[in-house]
Amino acid sequence: MTPNDYRLSKTGVTSVSGSLHLWNTSVLRTLLDNPAYIGNLAQLRTTTVSYKNHKWQRRPKEDWIVIENAHEPILSKELWNKVKEVEASVSNGKPTKRGFTHPLSGLLYCADCGAKMRLGWNMPKDIPYFNFNCGTRSRCGSSACFSHFITVPALERIVLNDVRDKAQKIVADERKFRRKYMEHTAKLADKKQTDVKRELKRAERRAAELDKLISAAFEEKVAGKLPENVCLQLIDKYTAEQTELKERISALTQGLEEKQRATADVDEFIRRIKKHINAPELTRELCLELFEKIVIGGKETVTGKPQEVHIYYKIDIGSIL
Ligand SMILES: [Zn+2]
Repeated sequence: MTPNDYRLSKTGVTSVSGSLHLWNTSVLRTLLDNPAYIGNLAQLRTTTVSYKNHKWQRRPKEDWIVIENAHEPILSKELWNKVKEVEASVSNGKPTKRGFTHPLSGLLYCADCGAKMRLGWNMPKDIPYFNFNCGTRSRCGSSACFSHFITVPALERIVLNDVRDKAQKIVADERKFRRKYMEHTAKLADKKQTDVKRELKRAERRAAELDKLISAAFEEKVAGKLPENVCLQLIDKYTAEQTELKERISALTQGLEEKQRATADVDEFIRRIKKHINAPELTRELCLELFEKIVIGGKETVTGKPQEVHIYYKIDIGSIL
């Protein structure tokens, strides 16, 4: 039932415009953004413009007050994270006029101009086959970017073989892979974390200082030691710096959390790639679960060397396998 129909069945109240009894995207968007589904209670999600103007407004997510595990979840955290991941993914996929979305749609990039690759088709002997080529080239012509033509069957074969190969290597010695990955990310994270932590400390100290400076300026003004315009100028200056600092602090804190999360990602990745070890063909699900992006090099007849296909997985396994 759509929320409208549900309300009608419970309360007998229907919306002003009537209902078509259809789900629409904006309702789904709101639902998928509501942490109540994973058991979190989020408050202060909305506000009004001011105490006079009661127009309703969404508040930015950073300002929500979230109490985790406040009640029994309806969705698993895993599913929730998967939704968020697809949402944040580079790709929403672009269907053709006939409504076909290739599994790799939106994940392919031109190695030379960075544009997304575009799906096209040829029909040499009355048998149509799909291919990908640089999007800039197909939009703006051959002077804009050179050919990155690759047929869909060839690309699918390369990608699928790589998935199977990586999966087999991982399964062959899962523990070693996990350990190597942890070492690899820890090394990267450690270096970054020390720098970030240091900067974070400095920023927090300065933020506390500014608080004091602002109240000091205000007190001086009240005591009549400081002219009003000078006081205002000072406070303006301090507040501007404070806002800037606060943004920086929240960015830095987020960075730290991301690094911690990265170390947990490997188990999820192993689980996913194991699932696809004997995949008979590429599916949209497989592609969205495993790939960050795939970069397609120039065509051999143009560059004079074999065409390169670089597959970037969700976790950086290039340096491990
Ligand atoms: Zn290009």
